[in-house]
Amino acid sequence: MFNKILIANRGEIACRIIKTAKKMGILTVAIYSDADKDALHVHMADEAIYIGPSPSRESYLLGDNVIAAAVKTGAQAIHPGYGFLSENAGFCRECAKQNITFIGPPVAAIEAMGSKSAAKNIMEKANVPLVPGYHGDDQSSAIIKKAADDMGYPVLLKATAGGGGKGMRQVWSEAEFEEGLAAAKREAMSSFGDDTMLVEKYLTQPRHVEIQVFCDNHQNAVYLFERDCSVQRRHQKVIEEAPAFGMSEELRAKMGDSAIKSAQAIGYQGAGTVEFLLDVDGSFYFMEMNTRLQVEHPVTEMISDQDLVEWQLRVAAGERLPKLQDQLVLNGHAFEARIYAEDANNDFLPATGKLSLLKTPVESRHVRIDTGVRQGDEVSVYYDPMIAKLIVWDENRDKALKRLIKALSEYRINGVTTNIDFLYNLATSKPFITEDIDTGFIEKNHALIFHDTEQELINELPIAALYLVLSIEEKAQKLAQQSNDPHSPWHQASAWRLNEAHIHSLVLSHSNNEYEISVEQRRQGTDAFYLININGQQFDCQGTLNGDTIIVNINGHRSQATVSQNENSISLYRTNGVFNFTHVLPDCGQHEIDESHGGLTAPMNGTMVSVLVKAGEYVEKNQALVIMEAMKMEHTIKAPSNGCVDEIFFNSGDMVDGGAALLAFTASDKE
Ligand code: ADP
Repeated sequence: MFNKILIANRGEIACRIIKTAKKMGILTVAIYSDADKDALHVHMADEAIYIGPSPSRESYLLGDNVIAAAVKTGAQAIHPGYGFLSENAGFCRECAKQNITFIGPPVAAIEAMGSKSAAKNIMEKANVPLVPGYHGDDQSSAIIKKAADDMGYPVLLKATAGGGGKGMRQVWSEAEFEEGLAAAKREAMSSFGDDTMLVEKYLTQPRHVEIQVFCDNHQNAVYLFERDCSVQRRHQKVIEEAPAFGMSEELRAKMGDSAIKSAQAIGYQGAGTVEFLLDVDGSFYFMEMNTRLQVEHPVTEMISDQDLVEWQLRVAAGERLPKLQDQLVLNGHAFEARIYAEDANNDFLPATGKLSLLKTPVESRHVRIDTGVRQGDEVSVYYDPMIAKLIVWDENRDKALKRLIKALSEYRINGVTTNIDFLYNLATSKPFITEDIDTGFIEKNHALIFHDTEQELINELPIAALYLVLSIEEKAQKLAQQSNDPHSPWHQASAWRLNEAHIHSLVLSHSNNEYEISVEQRRQGTDAFYLININGQQFDCQGTLNGDTIIVNINGHRSQATVSQNENSISLYRTNGVFNFTHVLPDCGQHEIDESHGGLTAPMNGTMVSVLVKAGEYVEKNQALVIMEAMKMEHTIKAPSNGCVDEIFFNSGDMVDGGAALLAFTASDKE
């Protein structure tokens, strides 16, 4: 076994790898950029080497610097994590030249999976099922069209060099074919400089089911069951689970065998994932193989009780696989939710900022948190904005899902916009609970996941109002207890204050709608009850606070909510989803938020895809100004208010550093 390894990564995955190395008595070397000099992974490692400025292309992506760091510290092997250099054949080759073990597959396996059509050719020969289609060398449009006509529409055109959904086009009928092909080719050429296409049958309700495989250098290969990663936004995974629901033993064995065949067809070693599309009729088709550890590997660890990083280290050191197929046991059910700094309500635009409060659910046998940040850390513009992975396990899907929901409601992050509420709504939605899931889940259930219908809100508003009033009273009582005259009327925050009306008036807003609410207190003490009036509707309410839980009785209906309050924003976590309200304070001229906040600077490192406005143009609030691409996704930057675009600093195609000013903008209401 190695004495010392270098981890060519950062964040949660670097921390995750260090944990296992420590357990195995292996010394670790971290690498870091300017932005990461005080990062958790740097503190956890035995040594750390500075490798360059914050942008990853000037640090984490510089293979030579990484290898130099390994040579300098005497690390015998490099673990690349995922992303960055993990699927870079050139880097892998350089490691070999320097006699450093690359903890991953052989170079040839990485190269073989680099092109979609080459990968399909290999898998076809190995008898792995493929989506029906054409992936030949003859690229004449007549040949591609004939293949499409023969298999029937809809079809999916894909760039063979593609990734991240680029150069991909659905074609729904023969009439649309020529135009679709031309558009897909244009996009492929501009994204990859290569417009070679393949065409596949487009499955309308597939699931994304992937198999974890492992091979050693002693001819052993196993699969560690499957993961369902169908819940995706723009082809990016959101919540993953293992095992896949509704999976029969027979299908599992069939998919597992195919995955092993895929791996063996390219002489695989180490951890790999074979991604399949699973159709409604139980047919499954090879999609691609990822030649590295996946973000979502923890769900597999939870149900197999194995440490996959330990397996990787053992295989890379030449040992045999720790377990063979018949020694692997699938136990229980696990979910992983990716906690991101992003704004789900604004097309998942990455968010940045300081994690001023970070309170996680308590870790246990059932709850695991993989993270690379601590309270007070900054989510910067430079890297993937994932804050943590929340992983839960229990003996079956129902119980595990309940744990996921509970843990999400206990996660508290202030200072940065996160997707926790979005994840909570997703996990509590009926189709998710009842396994009515395919890759179109989020689009199909948009209204459910972002639920904000007037009808639903009207039932939640009294709870938020009551919470506010009760917590004001509770605070006042605490103050009174601390003072030397606890009975002074000046410490009463209830509506019974001297010379004041016994009615609290407050305004709560939700999605730009404001609700005027009056809360009238009737009786005091344990008997207290409140008449709440919202737009003429009256609610008879009683409530008790218990930590961050409020128990309410509204018009005779008793229920409870977990409440998270961050300054003026209140979130109610309910069994049917989470509801956010803002407590609108009287206008003292101070709550004018900085309108340009985050709107006109690049929220992340990326590429300018298109500029939608001209210098000198007058724009309206929320009008799309430019589109950037980062982390495989396009992000639209919108106008923070009405105003004029004075100058634009980038052209389409330009690389943009996170934080850079994109355009000069003057807010104004006149054209
Ligand atoms: P990329 O490499 O660009 O990410 P993939 O081939 O991995 O492209 O496909 C990405 C996603 O697109 C899949 O997870 C699936 O949701 C969808 N997809 C791919 N191929 C098909 C198909 N033939 N039919 C339906 N959906 C597909």
